[in-house]
Order: sequence, then structure tokens, then C-alpha cells
Amino acid sequence: MSVRVEAFAKVNLGLSVLSRRPDGFHDIDTLFQSIDLADSLTIERSDGGMALSASGLSVPLGESNLVWRAAEAVRAETDCPPVSIDIVKRIPVAAGLGGGSADAAGTLLGLRSMFDLSLTDADLSRLALGIGSDVPFMLRGGTARGRGRGEDLEWWPPLGGFALVLVTPPVPVSAGEAYASVRIGLTGSALFTKLNCSAIQEGDMRALMTALRNDLEPGVVSCCPDVAAARFALESAGAIAVQMSGSGPTVLGLAESREDAEVQAREVRRTGDPGWAIHVVEPIDSGCRVEGAKERRS
Ligand code: ATP
Repeated sequence: MSVRVEAFAKVNLGLSVLSRRPDGFHDIDTLFQSIDLADSLTIERSDGGMALSASGLSVPLGESNLVWRAAEAVRAETDCPPVSIDIVKRIPVAAGLGGGSADAAGTLLGLRSMFDLSLTDADLSRLALGIGSDVPFMLRGGTARGRGRGEDLEWWPPLGGFALVLVTPPVPVSAGEAYASVRIGLTGSALFTKLNCSAIQEGDMRALMTALRNDLEPGVVSCCPDVAAARFALESAGAIAVQMSGSGPTVLGLAESREDAEVQAREVRRTGDPGWAIHVVEPIDSGCRVEGAKERRS
């Protein structure tokens, strides 16, 4: 018996950092959007204890992997047996695309489904937040405004009718460092006060993304000049709006269609740094897709 999980990446379409909290995290206001770039997880029952393997992009194996932490969190609260989990890693790592968070959410959902565990959605959200601030969003995915640490979620109707070019310079950025360099209070008021609400209602992506800012971007640019270079390359290639995602360094460019985005991506490949990873993606109304047989519990 095994389950296969597609765990989708996210982008942040705007991110305001509002304040530093007593617990060391930051209160933010962001718009999360799932995209059709996914890692694949295959989960099988293991007779020899917990095991983790990975192919594709390099990720840490063992206890520091968020997949491992998610599985252990489930096993601490349920009678879930040991499992082996294989990750096919496609989402760039430490890139502001929430890849580790997606894998953790996929593990929580995959295990619940496979072993029919008596965990409610609220239980999964609580376990998710214990693993990372973005993980609760990843459980459902789609489009949502996130406040608090990002776990206070308000789901929006799906946004669509656009594509994005993602440019990821090969410089991993830790979320902690990005938040440490933000200048709170200098960056203006909350994200959504700047927004024309009709732009949101009408799904006007051009108006939406032009109005939104990522407060983490200036600090990341100062230690990672590639972010400014990627922004320039996307703007020169004709992107409608350009912004860094999450804690970076991935920069996203807005296009009206996948065809336009492919043209822009070709141009960035021609003019940009050969070390940049470039993906063309579209929004998706899902965080994880779980397929496979459930195990019969005796
Ligand atoms: P976020 O946008 O949620 O801050 P990110 O996309 O910037 O996340 P991730 O790709 O989730 O970053 O990786 C963050 C860190 O987590 C990296 O240092 C990486 O080594 C570690 N990590 C642990 N498990 C995983 C995993 N399954 N996939 C990717 N990174 C992982």
C-alpha cells in the first residue's frame, strides 16, 4: 500500500511585515497563491523504522527534513506506524516558494489518508503550525490572505487568467535572515489598505500586483544583488509587474498568459545569469493532491 502526494509550491503576491512578536516571529499580512510547481512524495509502510529518501534537488535527509518532522508529529499523536517517504524534489530550496512547507503539509495529509487517522482538519492545522508558519496554508492551498504568522487565513475565490515567470538565483536565503533585515515601520502601512478592493473582486492581477509590495525585498536585495538583477531581467523581458516571493530570492514576473510567460522566460534565459533557475507556472486552486490506496486497519 502506498500513497502518492503532489505538494504544490506557493508564491506571496505581496507581503507586509507589521511587527515583531514577543515569541520572536513576525506578524505579517500577505496574499498566498498556490502554483503548479510540485514536489512528489511516495509514502509506504516501513517494517524497518522511519526512512526518508530524496532525488532531484538536494535536501537534508533525516530529522531536519520537514517531512520527517511532520511524520513524527503525526506519530506522536496517533498510532500511525513507521513509514518510508521518498521525495522527488523539484521546488527550488530556500527560495521563498515554501517547498519544505508544502512537503510537510503533504506528509500530514498523506498519512491521515493512508492510515485513516482520527485527526481533524483543526488537528492538522495545529500540527502544521508547529512545523512552520506557511504549513497551515499549504494544507488547503489556492488563494488566501494570511495574517498573524501567516496561519490566520482568509480564503479568497481562486485567482486565474495569468501566468508567472519565476527566476530563482542560486543563493539560498533563510527566512530568519530575511526577517532580521526588515526595517519595520519604515515600509508603510498594511498591505491591503493600499489596495483598490474592486481590483481584488474583479481579479485584476495587473492592478493587484502593481499595488502590492514585499517588505522583505529591500533587505534581501542588499545581501543578494542577484534579486535586483532578476527583477531587471524580468522587467526588460516585458513582465507586467515584478516582485520577490516570500523571503526570496525567487523573483516573479506577471504575464497575461502562459504563452506570454514562455516568451518572457526565453528572453530572461538569453539575457540573464546562466545559473538562475527559471520556471513558468500558473495558479492552482489546491495545496496538495493525495492519490492512492488506504491501508485497512485491523
Ligand atoms: P518559506 O517560503 O516557507 O520560508 P522557503 O521556500 O524559503 O520557505 P524551503 O525550501 O522550505 O524554503 O527550505 C527552507 C529550509 O528548510 C532549507 O534550509 C532546507 O534545507 C530545509 N528543509 C527541510 N526539509 C525540506 C524539504 N522537504 N524541502 C525543502 N527544504 C527543506
